[in-house]
Amino acid sequence: PSTALATQIKESAEGTGIKRKFISVTRPQDVEDARLLLPIVAEEQPIMEAILLNKVVVICGETGSGKTTQVPQFLYEAGFGTPGSDNPGMIGITQPRRVAAMSMASRVAHELSLTSSKVSYQIRYDATVSPETSIKFMTDGVLLRELATDFLLKKYSVIIIDEAHERSMNTDILIGVLSRVIKLREQMWSEKKDDIKPLRLIIMSATLRVTDFAENTTLFSTPPPIINVPARQHPVTTHFSRRTASDYVSEAIRKASKIHARLPSGGILIFLTGQNEISGVCRKLEARYSRKAIEERQRKRKPVPREDEYGSIPLPKVDPTHADVEAEDVDLGVEDLAIDVDGDVADIDVDMDALDSDGETETNEELGIDAEESETPMHIVPLYALLPSDKQMRVFEPPPSGSRLVVVSTNVAETSLTIPGIRYVIDCGRAKERRYDVTNGIQTFQVSWISKASASQRAGRAGRTGPGHCYRLYSSALYENYFDQFSQPEILRMPIEGVVLQMKSMHIDSVVNFPFPTPPDRHNLRKAETTLTHLGALKPAIGGVIGQAEITEELGGRCHCSRCRPRILEDEALVDEESDAEEPEDLSHLTSEDVRAKEARKIRRKAFFESQALHSSLGNNTSDVFRILSVVGAYEYAGGGHKFCVEHFVRPKAMEEIHKLRVQIDNIVQANFPDLDTKFSKNLQPPNKNPAVRKDIVEKNSSGGRQYTTAKGIPYKAMGIAEDVFIHPSSVLANEAPPEYVVFLETVRTSRVWIKGAASTLPAIIYQEGHNHIRRNVDTSCLALEPGGWELPPIKQKDTN
Ligand code: ADP
Ligand code: MG
Repeated sequence: PSTALATQIKESAEGTGIKRKFISVTRPQDVEDARLLLPIVAEEQPIMEAILLNKVVVICGETGSGKTTQVPQFLYEAGFGTPGSDNPGMIGITQPRRVAAMSMASRVAHELSLTSSKVSYQIRYDATVSPETSIKFMTDGVLLRELATDFLLKKYSVIIIDEAHERSMNTDILIGVLSRVIKLREQMWSEKKDDIKPLRLIIMSATLRVTDFAENTTLFSTPPPIINVPARQHPVTTHFSRRTASDYVSEAIRKASKIHARLPSGGILIFLTGQNEISGVCRKLEARYSRKAIEERQRKRKPVPREDEYGSIPLPKVDPTHADVEAEDVDLGVEDLAIDVDGDVADIDVDMDALDSDGETETNEELGIDAEESETPMHIVPLYALLPSDKQMRVFEPPPSGSRLVVVSTNVAETSLTIPGIRYVIDCGRAKERRYDVTNGIQTFQVSWISKASASQRAGRAGRTGPGHCYRLYSSALYENYFDQFSQPEILRMPIEGVVLQMKSMHIDSVVNFPFPTPPDRHNLRKAETTLTHLGALKPAIGGVIGQAEITEELGGRCHCSRCRPRILEDEALVDEESDAEEPEDLSHLTSEDVRAKEARKIRRKAFFESQALHSSLGNNTSDVFRILSVVGAYEYAGGGHKFCVEHFVRPKAMEEIHKLRVQIDNIVQANFPDLDTKFSKNLQPPNKNPAVRKDIVEKNSSGGRQYTTAKGIPYKAMGIAEDVFIHPSSVLANEAPPEYVVFLETVRTSRVWIKGAASTLPAIIYQEGHNHIRRNVDTSCLALEPGGWELPPIKQKDTN
C-alpha cells in the first residue's frame, strides 16, 4: 500500500486517538503481481479503518477474494503483532481445518518474505510458534484450549475467526466467548488495570449470511460493521444431471474423462466425500490418463507413426454448447425423486469396504471411460485431511506443462483452499458429516446432501480464473426439493455435553445464558448438565439451579485436561476438538481399521485377517483398545520407523500421531497429577484386569451369533441403545468365540449398529442414584491414569537425528 494510503488511514484513525506504526514489507514480485488481482487488496483502506475504529468487524468476501491471506498482512503492516507498536500482541487467525492452518501460514510467510517462526501455525500435534511470532494461524480447537488457560488472551491484539460461515461448533463457541473477552479487555484498558491493550475481533465469512453474528445483540451490543468485498467472479454455467447417479464415484470419473477428452484446457476439480473415494478415483484416472499410462499406450500402438506422417495431435474438439458433455437439465419430477430418495446414498457403509476388497470391483471398461481417450496427460492431485502435508501443498503447484490439473478433493476445497486454474467443477452433491443421534449418542459418519449454499460455493470454484462450468451429478429436482438453503450450525446437530464441559472448564458456568450465535435448545443444555453431573464431572447444582453447575476438580478437570470425551468420561479416550471429521484424533477412534494400513485392506480379505492376527499377536485378544495400545507400544519400542509400519500393516501417519498424542498426554498427566503413578512398565501384556472402556455393557443375544442386546437389568434408556448391536468385523473379538458380555467404546451406525473398541468383560455393577441408572463397573476414570491397572508401554522418544 502506498504511503499516501497509509497516511490516510492514519489520519482517519487519529480521530480516535489510535496511533499507528507502520512496518514496511517486501514481497516477491510474483506475489505483488498476484495481489493486484485480489479484490480484497483494493479494500485495504476501508477494512483497516473499520478495524481501527471498531472492536469487532465482519468481513464477507467470496472464496478466493483474499481474506485469509491478505487481512493478516494488512494488520501486520499496520503494526499489529510487532513489539513497540500500539498493538504489540500477536495476530491470531483460526481455521476450522488444520490443512488450511498450515498451508495458509506458509503462504503468508512466503508473501511477506518472512520466516515460519514469524508467521507460524499451531495445530494439535505440531507448531512453528516462537517468541518472535507475529502472525499465528491455528485451528479453532487450539484457541479454545488457550482460552481455558488464559481467558483474556493477553498474547493477542487481534483475533480473526475465519470461515465463520461454516458455523462449526468451535467457531460458534469462540465467537460467543470472544464477545465477552473483548468487553473485559476494553474494560480493563479503560480502568487502566493492566497495560494490555483492548482486543479486536474480525469475523470472516465466505457468504453474506452473517446476521447471527452481526445483528445479535446478545453477542455485541453495538452491531459490528459489515464489510463486503466485491466479488470478482467469472460466470459459471451450471449443468444439472438428468438423473441423480447413486454411484456418483463412477459418474465423477466418467464426467472427468469426457471433459478431458472434449473440452478446452483448464483444471478440473472433483468434489467427493472422503479419502477412500478420492484415492479410488485418483487410481483409476492415473491408470488411464497419467503421462506414464499414455506413453505406455502409445508404445503399444503399432506401428508408431512418425511425427510427420501423423501430423500434429489434433486439438480436442470444442463444443461451446457443452451438449455432448452434459445433457441439459430435464426436470423429471416424481420418478426421479423416488430414485434419489430411496437410493442408498445415505447408507453408504464406509467401514465395510475393508472387507469386500478382493480386488477392484469395477474395471475401467465397466466405468465407460474407455470410450474416449485423450493424449493429453492429467496431473492428478488428491486433497483430503489425512494426506501428508507436503502432498496437500501440491494443489498449489502449477501442473507440468502440457498436462491438465485434476484435483480430487473433499470439501476442503469448498472454501478453505482456493486452487488456482480450475475451470471445471464436478460436484457429487454430497459431503460426509459426523453426526450424533442426540437421543442415544450413536455416532455416524453420514454421507448427506450438501446445502444449496455449499453447492453454489463449489460451483464458484470454477469461476476464479475465467468463465467456467460446474457439472452437478444430481438433478435440479433433487436440488430444489431436498437441498436445504444453508446447512444447520453444527452446535444444533451435536450432543452438547462436550460443549457444556468445554465451557465449564473455561469457567463459563452459566451455559444457559451463554451468548451463542445460535443458541441450542435450553432443554438439551439442561439435559447435558444433568448427565455430566451424574457422571461426576459437574458439581450438583446448588438449589437445583440448572445452568450454574460448576466443573468438579477431579473428574471434570481431569477429563478436560486429558481431553477425555465426556460421553465416555470414565475412559481414556480423548476428545476430538478439531473438527476434521476425517482424522482419527483420539484413542477412541484409533480402533484397528484406522491404524491399519490401506494396503492391508487391499491385498485381500485374507491379508486383512492376517494383519489382524498379527496385531493380535502383538497384544491382547480380548480388547480392541489394548490391541491398539500394544501395537503402538511395539512401534515405539522398535523406535518407530517406516519398516515397522510396513511389516505390521499399520499406517505410519496414524502411528506417529498416536505416539505424539501419548507423549502429550503423558506430559499433561505429569503436570497435573504429580501424585499419580505414571511410570510405564516394559510389559507389553496387559494385566488380566480389564478396565472397562465404556460402561455400556451388552450381552450375547440368545439367537446366537454375534448379536448383542442390552445386558439384563439395565434399562434401555440408561444404555442409550434401543436395538441390537453387532461386534464390528474389525474387532479382535470378531474372530473369537463371542464372549458373553462385551463393553465398548463407541457405536457406529452403517447398515446396522456396530460396536467398536470392544472388550470382553464381566457384568457391570449397576446402581441406582435417584432416577438415573449410572453405569460404573470398574473404578477407573482414565485408562491412562489408572493406578495398578493396565500399564502403558514405555514411551520411547524417536531419535531425532
Ligand atoms: P479467501 O480466504 O478469501 O478465500 P485466500 O486468501 O485463501 O482467499 O486466497 C487468495 C489467493 O491466494 C487465491 O487466489 C489462492 O489461490 C492464492 N493462494 C493461497 N494459498 C496459496 C499457495 N499456497 N500457493 C499459491 N497460491 C495460493
Ligand atoms: Mg479463506
